[in-house]
Amino acid sequence: MVVVVNPDVSEEKIKYLINWLDEKGLDVRVFHGNKQCVLGLIGDMGKIDIDMLRSLDIVESVAEMEESFKASNRRLHPEDTVIDIHDGKAMIGGSYFALIAGPCSVESEEQIISIAKQVKAAGATFLRGGAFKPRSSPYDFQGLGESGLDLLRKARTMTGLPIVTELMDIRSLELFEDIDVIQVGARNTQNYDLLKELGQVKNTVLLKRGLAGTIRELLMSADYIMKNGNENVILCERGIRTYESDYARNTLDLSAVPILKRLTHLPVVVDPSHATGRVDLVPSMALAAAAAGADGIMIEVHNDPPKALCDGAQSLTPEEFAHTAQKIFKIREALA
Ligand code: PEP
Ligand code: MN
Repeated sequence: MVVVVNPDVSEEKIKYLINWLDEKGLDVRVFHGNKQCVLGLIGDMGKIDIDMLRSLDIVESVAEMEESFKASNRRLHPEDTVIDIHDGKAMIGGSYFALIAGPCSVESEEQIISIAKQVKAAGATFLRGGAFKPRSSPYDFQGLGESGLDLLRKARTMTGLPIVTELMDIRSLELFEDIDVIQVGARNTQNYDLLKELGQVKNTVLLKRGLAGTIRELLMSADYIMKNGNENVILCERGIRTYESDYARNTLDLSAVPILKRLTHLPVVVDPSHATGRVDLVPSMALAAAAAGADGIMIEVHNDPPKALCDGAQSLTPEEFAHTAQKIFKIREALA
């Protein structure tokens, strides 16, 4: 249920209404906009008299919320969510655009630090790199694990770039306490126990769309995190499985960007690297994502793609990344 409070109602009266709804056992989500306050009610509506609520002089309107996703729903939070990493070190959402770049996997100190410096110089605002890797084959490189996280921390200290890295298992959560953005990969988007746990931490979460996940499923997964208390969620379109597999690793669903921007207040990022799997497709799809209104783009960059331990075929060199970044910024300017 969405309750829009009349403009200019005193804070005290709003608090009184919230307390009353709280006492009825409802989860009340409060959004204070510039002009008006919106209350999102989640739970058993049978506990309140809706006609009575509607008739209150401080209430402008009461409407059903048919959508199954609630906390992430734009109707409960009409303005874009802006996520602030470490007091303005990096921002995403609203008018803030994030360029996230780095290797698929952290491979060595030299590799991650040199890539971090180069992507920063090219305009990246976040450094990505996998330490715990979800590989389809158990025989492939599984990531450096804990020592990979340490190398990311070093790269962060040297460049100032906040870090984005994937958590695969709840049991490693304590290792991620100081990680700026915890990535939930496509294979874990519906690992609800993991999502609930991430609802209780302070880190920002970058939640990828499932391998064959629908947009609604992605939003429900975001709700699993938000319902449990963590509002800092970034959504990521990374391509979905379709019948096309000859010429692209996945199919990039760019329409998900405007659809998500309409349905949710959360920032939306596009990952053209995993969406296409091919270095020749990454730049054009990155530009298309910027043009579609994405709040951020995440691109895999490797200093020596043919020798990469993971996803070399889709990794740009730092030079190619710098070139693409310039074009992305031009598209952003054109949209402004
Ligand atoms: C990744 O970002 O390295 C990754 C494994 O992504 P996805 O979960 O989208 O496959
Ligand atoms: Mn990868």
